[in-house]
Amino acid sequence: MLMVLLWRAHYHKEDFLLKKCRKDLVTTGDFEKVKQKLEEMNTWLNRAFKETSFINVNKVFEPVKKRDISSRKRILITGGAGFVGSHLVDVLMKDGHEIYVMDNFYTGRRCNIEHWIGHPNFALLHHDVTEPYLLEVDQIYHLACPASPTHYQYNPIKTIKTNTLGTMNMLGLARRIKATMLLASSSEVYGDPVQHPQKETYWGNVNPIGPRACYDEGKRISETLCYSYYSQENVSIRVARIFNSFGPRMHPNDGRVVSNFIAQAIKGEHLTIYGDGKQTRSFQYVKDLVRGLIALMNSNYSLPVNLGNPDEYTIVQLASYIIDITRSNSSIQFLPKVKDDPQRRRPDITVAKTYLNWKPEWEVKKGLQETINTNF
Ligand code: NAD
Ligand code: UDP
Repeated sequence: MLMVLLWRAHYHKEDFLLKKCRKDLVTTGDFEKVKQKLEEMNTWLNRAFKETSFINVNKVFEPVKKRDISSRKRILITGGAGFVGSHLVDVLMKDGHEIYVMDNFYTGRRCNIEHWIGHPNFALLHHDVTEPYLLEVDQIYHLACPASPTHYQYNPIKTIKTNTLGTMNMLGLARRIKATMLLASSSEVYGDPVQHPQKETYWGNVNPIGPRACYDEGKRISETLCYSYYSQENVSIRVARIFNSFGPRMHPNDGRVVSNFIAQAIKGEHLTIYGDGKQTRSFQYVKDLVRGLIALMNSNYSLPVNLGNPDEYTIVQLASYIIDITRSNSSIQFLPKVKDDPQRRRPDITVAKTYLNWKPEWEVKKGLQETINTNF
């Protein structure tokens, strides 16, 4: 606690010292004495911080908006060290809010949020959402959950615990402190959809005992929990059904199609297509998604909302696209189809357009280029 106070005093050094200086001048009138006292204090503060290895006093942060207490929100982002979460952190930090990231670093990485560590508006909580946590915040973005099929299938029981116990803990917290909670749900709640494109009213087609069930059913029960806490306990909830998203900070070994293809194309390896490659996905750039999540959180719309880019590609088309953009000599290698792989996926985004005034602005090609430039 002492170190936090010291750090704050140091960060706001100018303000802090100026105020003290003014007060002493008024009471003593002795300018030289006040100046000497300030110099001593400054030296002492600098030494105290230099001796504290976990705080980098020379760190330069991106500028953040100055907000007064009435407009500054305290926001918890679970899974904030992951791909989507870290972009959300950036936007909300720059907008001048107080951000708490809660992450167990299962798939998240410290380097995704390192640039904010030490900032007085930022706190990192190394914590697993399956355990309860007490914190006072105004909003909770609940993103904690591995998103890549490789990762969520690695330990399916943990994935289920994260989606059940983790979501209950966050909803319990939201109830207790009267915060609004946004759940990062998924287009996977539609399973291998029979309706195309998928509207929010579609109930889905999910295999409850297949390899994807830990995630698909996990997200479905997370949604059910949200609506139970909403109807029974009056918790303010938002549910975003996120479609395939991509962008900088995706882990090159994360196993998802965009990162796999880009990494393979750049290394000149075969692009591995599971099945015949005629299955489709609709890809959105992460900056569009983050804008949608914030718009949803700050709206008063509490039914599920699809957030995705309706531009639909077959996996073969995506592969050739990435080979073109990277000017790679790679060829395509067809591998066996994976079990329960959804065959078509494309969001109907009428609800997001109508209630959030949101639609994607990034073309897939531009987003891919940006991802390649920054990530690989
Ligand atoms: P990601 O794997 O990069 O990030 C998930 C984060 O959650 C990681 O930082 C991870 O360490 C953390 N986490 C996992 N389990 C946790 C636990 N038990 N306690 C605390 N932290 C935990 O994934 P992402 O792509 O950033 O996805 C973020 C959210 O959005 C997920 O809930 C995912 O289901 C959802 N979503 C993402 C996509 C997409 O295309 N990226 C699509 C649909 C839904
Ligand atoms: N896919 C592929 N090759 C890869 C990775 C994925 O053909 O190296 C396919 C996968 O079978 C699926 C689609 O690409 O049909 C999207 O997979 P991803 O894991 O990115 O996300 P999903 O939408 O399946 O959760």
